[in-house]
Amino acid sequence: MSARVPPPFPADTSLELRPAEMERLVRLAMDRIVPHVDSLSAQRAADTEGAAALSRSLIEREPPETGAPAEELLDLLFDRAIPKSFNPASPGYLAYIPGGGLFPSAVAGLVAAAANRYTGLFAAAPLLVQLETNVLRWFARIAGYPDGAGGFLSSGGSLASFSAIVAARCDRLPENFLSGVLYVSDQAHHCLAKAALLAGFPARSVRVIPTDDAFRIRLDLLGAAVAEDRREGRTPFLVVGNAGTTNTGAVDDLDALATLAAREGLWFHVDAAYGGFFLLTERGRSRMAGIARADSIVLDPHKGLFLPYGSGCLLVLDAATLRRAHGAGGEYLPGMQSDPDLVDFCEISPELSRPYRGLSAWLPLKMHGFGPFRRNLEEKLDLASYAAAVLARREDVEIAAPPDLSLFAFRFVRRGDREDGLAARNRRILDAVNARGRVHLTATTTKGRTLLRICVLSFRTHRDRVDAALEDLAAAADEAAAG
Ligand SMILES: *Cc1c(COP(=O)(O)O)cnc(C)c1O
Repeated sequence: MSARVPPPFPADTSLELRPAEMERLVRLAMDRIVPHVDSLSAQRAADTEGAAALSRSLIEREPPETGAPAEELLDLLFDRAIPKSFNPASPGYLAYIPGGGLFPSAVAGLVAAAANRYTGLFAAAPLLVQLETNVLRWFARIAGYPDGAGGFLSSGGSLASFSAIVAARCDRLPENFLSGVLYVSDQAHHCLAKAALLAGFPARSVRVIPTDDAFRIRLDLLGAAVAEDRREGRTPFLVVGNAGTTNTGAVDDLDALATLAAREGLWFHVDAAYGGFFLLTERGRSRMAGIARADSIVLDPHKGLFLPYGSGCLLVLDAATLRRAHGAGGEYLPGMQSDPDLVDFCEISPELSRPYRGLSAWLPLKMHGFGPFRRNLEEKLDLASYAAAVLARREDVEIAAPPDLSLFAFRFVRRGDREDGLAARNRRILDAVNARGRVHLTATTTKGRTLLRICVLSFRTHRDRVDAALEDLAAAADEAAAG
């Protein structure tokens, strides 16, 4: 009777941190995170000088076999990598669309990853899924949608737009959908053309409709294009309205678009990635009147709700349209829910496994309530109209697009300058402002004009920083005029 000696199965337990090791790691990280966040207002609004070359010094081709101390890795992040970038979390970042970075969301990310529950399926984490579904219920309410609406959180506006186009395609076109045509304005975000391509439409299926002097879609030209496409045997099925364009912040006449879409039997989608959360304010609701008539709406909580990147949202008026576009079963999966209050995100979105995104919205919204968000957004509207009014007082400034919300576009002009001279002059002014580092602005070139933009959207941006932007712009413009 020889008792078999069990094989040793050597266990490497170094991936299972002991409590003291966990505490130490979090403390080390906090020792870097807290001073970093606390000093955001003193940091440059962007600093990428030499960054591309420095990034080459980080190239590493061999996977490391052994570990390095966490201190060293955090130093690499905080001393070298993080500083060399745009700083969308800075109060001076008035470029593109500013980012946020609410601290409670960062903590939510830590909690979500540490618990690592599975939220793609209702059955796998019913209570956690319900908390995320609440966030979507709140967003639907803010959009003015009735019960019966649905939606999901995505990685961003681009992916949400993709699902919107697929939902519209499934709802309005036959399986063989290549005769379908969709309409966007010449100010639409490029993610819509990309989403159409991903959804299977050749480039010729996307009709680009000109805008008026206020950068709003020309309804007469839209109507004419729809009629022409029908005459030629194509199938118009979708029109996109803008609730705050990235170029100049323009909000289309959403109510009129909704009426046209209803008359023509088109799916009406609203891209409110930038502007949507201004629906929390009275002014935003009046600017975006008609948005609740949309079949689908894209919002970006990582813009107007100040969340960290990785948070977009698609809302649809009729939740069933998402299920029809994304539903697919697997033999190995548990049963899906049929009660509309219990949502399986994998049935209504492209993802199965997914991060627990909802928590980074849920935690700050529950901790603070919507009140502070509403007041912050009111302030951003005020700051943008204030900045535009101050600039408009200068004789050498042309406000090309006054703020519909918190973004506007303008340029410095000089009599006698041709278009290319004006573009060069404005680029010089932009570079001079950005070189000072207190604020970061960007330009856009649309309809043949190079325009400077100011977008106020960070919860960290207040009057002092907008004044700094105005001072630096005035100084740079006076210098350019003298030079
Ligand atoms: C930011 C933005 C998008 C794209 O969203 P991502 O989250 O960057 O993918 C789409 N439309 C508008 C108007 C935007 O401002």
